[in-house]
Amino acid sequence: MRPPLPVRHVHATAVRRVTPRLVRVTFGGEAPACFPPGGPDQQVKLFFPRRGQSVPVLPEPDADGDVMRWYAAYNAMAADQRPWMRSYTVRAHDAGRGTIDIDFVLHAGGAEGPATRWARAARAGDTLGMFGPSELFARQVDPRAGDWTLMVADHCALPALATVAEALPAGRRAVAYIEVPDAAEEQTLRSAADLSVRWLHGEGLLLDAVRSLRPPTGAGYAWLAGEADAVRALRRHLVDERGLDRRSVDFAGYWRRRLSQDDAPTPADLAEAQERLSDLREQGGRNPRARS
Ligand SMILES: Cc1cc2nc3c(=O)[nH]c(=O)nc-3n(C[C@H](O)[C@H](O)[C@H](O)COP(=O)(O)OP(=O)(O)OC[C@H]3O[C@@H](n4cnc5c(N)ncnc54)[C@H](O)[C@@H]3O)c2cc1C
Repeated sequence: MRPPLPVRHVHATAVRRVTPRLVRVTFGGEAPACFPPGGPDQQVKLFFPRRGQSVPVLPEPDADGDVMRWYAAYNAMAADQRPWMRSYTVRAHDAGRGTIDIDFVLHAGGAEGPATRWARAARAGDTLGMFGPSELFARQVDPRAGDWTLMVADHCALPALATVAEALPAGRRAVAYIEVPDAAEEQTLRSAADLSVRWLHGEGLLLDAVRSLRPPTGAGYAWLAGEADAVRALRRHLVDERGLDRRSVDFAGYWRRRLSQDDAPTPADLAEAQERLSDLREQGGRNPRARS
């Protein structure tokens, strides 16, 4: 018998601005105890209400925990009822209180989708749907792989990078490049590692900055997240030009320019998915760095 699906409604219990363009929402709700402790860089799927709804409508999961049937029921909902689904990082989890924190970046320049619109207006008591954290889409990163760690993130991947930095052991050599719109968006990162952080203000600056990295000696492990094309270019640079073992590069596209998370995959997305599949096959379906 499969465990029940981790899908439920959650309620905002606190909302605060961490920086001018980053809102931290603390969520509690039904069955919060089902959050596993997890590792760094864990995500959930959030469901945002449609116009006219105060609570997003979610299909009832079957007792046998069948995720495909649940997802088919979600897709079969009428378009004007089906809640928008977006991916977000578990920034913090308080097992005692049964809450999790999620950091929402407020995008500028008119690029405002339903998640950002919701976060801008969020108030304690507001309700969202949440799926996860779940083994189904758990990221299994081990930032202690190799001899030193490189972390690269744009603004919306900063919450995930912060969880990776917190997971690094004392004395570990680590370098982070983080792109945010301006100095007001910088945050103090907690880490026991010997971490050097380079903040970049603007857009499209990460690749050139990483090109100038003078890496520590030994084998490197890289963690990359942010705009999909930028992340792919960074990965190519590290693997093709710097010679990092591609299995030592964890990377994830978090968003796509001019496309929403509802839009179909681009040819570049499909090629990447294909490559990930063949990597998995090569590794016999196992992530070599997976936590036991
Ligand atoms: C695993 C994972 C974890 C994530 N964790 C977080 C997190 O903790 N915090 C967070 O804020 N985001 C996070 N994201 C990114 C977030 O899911 C996307 O930014 C999402 O598209 C926002 O949804 P939306 O409804 O606001 O915009 P959408 O409706 O998806 O898009 C509307 C418009 O906004 C633009 N847009 C979308 N995202 C961005 C962006 N980041 N910067 C500039 N323009 C953008 C799109 O190009 C589009 O033109 C994560 C993504 C993934 C895959």
